[in-house]
Amino acid sequence: MPELASRVSNTRPSVTMALIRRAAELRAEGKQVTSLIAGEPDFNTPEHIRAAGIEAIKRGDTRYTAGDGTNELRAALVDKLRRENGLEYASSEVVAANGTKPLLQAAFLALADPGDEVIVPAPYWVSYPDIVRLCGAVPVPVVCTQENGFLLQPEDLEAAITERTRAVLINTPNNPTGAVYDAELLRKLHDVLQRHPAVTVVTDEIYEHLTYDGLTAPSPASVGEDAKARTIVINGFSKGYVMMGWRLGFAAGPANLIKGMSSVLSHLAGSPNSISQAAAVEALRGDNSYQASNRDSYVDRRDLALSMVNQMPGLEAVRTSGSFFVFANCAGTLGRKTPAGETINSDEDFSRLAIDEAGVLVVPGSGFGLSPFLRMSYSVDLEDLRGALERLRKFCNRLS
Ligand code: PLP
Repeated sequence: MPELASRVSNTRPSVTMALIRRAAELRAEGKQVTSLIAGEPDFNTPEHIRAAGIEAIKRGDTRYTAGDGTNELRAALVDKLRRENGLEYASSEVVAANGTKPLLQAAFLALADPGDEVIVPAPYWVSYPDIVRLCGAVPVPVVCTQENGFLLQPEDLEAAITERTRAVLINTPNNPTGAVYDAELLRKLHDVLQRHPAVTVVTDEIYEHLTYDGLTAPSPASVGEDAKARTIVINGFSKGYVMMGWRLGFAAGPANLIKGMSSVLSHLAGSPNSISQAAAVEALRGDNSYQASNRDSYVDRRDLALSMVNQMPGLEAVRTSGSFFVFANCAGTLGRKTPAGETINSDEDFSRLAIDEAGVLVVPGSGFGLSPFLRMSYSVDLEDLRGALERLRKFCNRLS
């Protein structure tokens, strides 16, 4: 059998794959299994955005576009960044691509030579370490504790920086914790970086529009001109604009870095999807009132999830105000036994047993670089969520 290159064999299989397989087996046996692992909105793309895509096809917008995106899209992105983020960019400082993922990859390929380090605050979105590794760089996880609201602390950032550090990745609002950085903390992190000019900030702001409790998520680039000059802002249309399958994201940053990323992307992906770009212009310029009603719906579900999880013996979830995840600490269940005599020794045990005994799929924190925790997505129907959490509560009640 031909051997895989080490860059591929060194990537980790997804933690959720085995869980999804087990859930499918149980469903095939006729058992009820509710998945709380969704990483995407449970809404449809708004009608007017879909219509703009259909119009683009009818118009014949089906050719390659400029590698960094159409002029219309880049102009709409420049306006969006000014209007919503207070960030002033020229259109040459903005690039669109087929999703946030390839933009992250392009950023690390543009910034890091083999063996260079990228600081990845943990808990992190599962793909970050593997994207960094695929680029030949070394992910350096830095733990952000529950006590610190799962947010990177300036002294921990300082301690993690070495002469090989080329980037620090900030994801706000965060997947898997829902944590949101405020401007004051971002400024303090920036103060640390002032002493380390070789370190670029790469942000993932894809959950920007999913913040609650009156909070907004300031971009790390927005805390000052010098912060902006060292930051690559990455964002996308999958969450706030409910355009997951359209595969479109964008980045903004210093012209030389954006040029480097555009060059990488032109070789890897050619140009972003022409139809999605036309739809995205409508998403940026058209009616966005659906975002407020989607937010309201997430708030109801988050509040339900938080109150039910915090009534489960052994589980504790702190309130966070972004994305659509609850990150519950399950330390209180460790060492306890199910009625069948199985001992829970880790978050992985908890999630395996929760499928079998409660018919609920949750992701263990180990996959996000922080244990013992469980990520529960509340991007599911409210009544399904209630039912699943009720079964999980009974499961926890039965532990001895
Ligand atoms: N970044 C984070 C933090 C995510 O949770 C996800 C999707 O789950 C993505 C990026 C993927 O974005 P895209 O669909 O634009 O590739």
